[in-house]
Amino acid sequence: RGTPKYSGMVEDCCCDYETVDRLNEEVLHPSLQELVKTPFFRYFKVKLWCDCPFWPDDGMCRLRDCSVCECPENEFPESFKKPDRRLSMTDLVCQEGKPQAAVDRTLDSKAFRGWTEIDNPWTNDDETDNDEMTYVNLQLNPERYTGYTGPSARRIWDAVYSENCPKYPSQELCQEEKILYKLISGLHSSISIHIASDYLLEEATNLWGQNLTLMYDRVLRYPDRVRNLYFTFLFVLRAVTKASDYLEQAEYDTGNPNEDLTTQSLIKQLLYNPKLQAACPIPFDEANLWKGQSGPELKQKIQQQFRNISALMDCVGCEKCRLWGKLQVLGLGTALKILFSVDGQENSSHTLQLQRNEVIALTNLLNRLSESVKFVHEVGPTAERIMEGG
Ligand code: FAD
Repeated sequence: RGTPKYSGMVEDCCCDYETVDRLNEEVLHPSLQELVKTPFFRYFKVKLWCDCPFWPDDGMCRLRDCSVCECPENEFPESFKKPDRRLSMTDLVCQEGKPQAAVDRTLDSKAFRGWTEIDNPWTNDDETDNDEMTYVNLQLNPERYTGYTGPSARRIWDAVYSENCPKYPSQELCQEEKILYKLISGLHSSISIHIASDYLLEEATNLWGQNLTLMYDRVLRYPDRVRNLYFTFLFVLRAVTKASDYLEQAEYDTGNPNEDLTTQSLIKQLLYNPKLQAACPIPFDEANLWKGQSGPELKQKIQQQFRNISALMDCVGCEKCRLWGKLQVLGLGTALKILFSVDGQENSSHTLQLQRNEVIALTNLLNRLSESVKFVHEVGPTAERIMEGG
């Protein structure tokens, strides 16, 4: 077991590959898997019907699996709902593609007390704008193969890399720009790994399973892409641990005291795990970034680039890919906000303010990255052996 190819420190980070794999397996993956199932973390507020600001819509969705199943209001925890609605078990079924399943979006302020409404400077969507926002149960809409491919998908990745995040490796790039590139590449690797780990192998019989060839062709054969995945994982983990005081004290009330207590205790388990604190207390050290004279200007430039990447998510032509694209880019934007800025000011735990949806995105992103790291660690060596004929 293990990929000897990946040893030593993860580039620009403060932990080595072996430690990351061990901590992920023993601590992070198990708690995150539980955490994302809790009612607080499984409902994501998102604007899915978006006009792409760059090209006319030419979405290429081959599978029914592309569409997102919106939450019917009566699936919601009690406190999210209007008082006169009753929950019936049959209502819990996913109402795929039914516009009448849209939820009452004005419930937010009632249901989620104690959370700020503050826009994220790193993302394009105005998170405080409730118009056209809807709720999605992430557990019913897993990120997996959707058949979204071809020029539409390619155009988005090309735009993300070449327009917003200059070509790499280039002598010209400073460390901060390389970090932006690595975050995007790491996220791209993670998306590809989720496609490979849950793939439609046989359409006629609806057989789903792992596609190791795809995993090898898109990720494993390029060691940089694997390294960028580990880097992104540690970067986001650092953001979560840096915000731990805030996250510990946050309000996870969804109206069910038992479930809410579980959420709270899972959060603590994740944030204050002694194994994590002993082996990898600072997964990434952001302290020496933006230091030069041009630091503030550079930060503005990179923030604008990231906002453009976030805007590109509105152009993803497959609804489910758009959902996960938007969630994960908001998660990255939240990590950037925690580590680097709150409205351009130096960050400190006193001034940090997060929106509920940012915390949901950040946690679900960390879980996705954790799943990808686990899959690469466990299945990667076998896939490499098969594909390289070893
Ligand atoms: P792509 O993955 O499209 O890659 C395009 C090019 O980018 C590659 O040729 C390579 O040069 C470069 N590249 C690839 N990976 C990396 C990396 N890690 N680092 C640096 N450069 C890289 N499809 C689904 O089935 N399910 C989904 O949930 C899904 N979500 C998506 C979300 C977003 C935001 C986008 C833009 C697309 C999504 N897709 C999804 C489509 C999927 O990512 C691929 O675009 C599609 O499967 C076609 O793959 P491809 O082989 O052409 O390579």
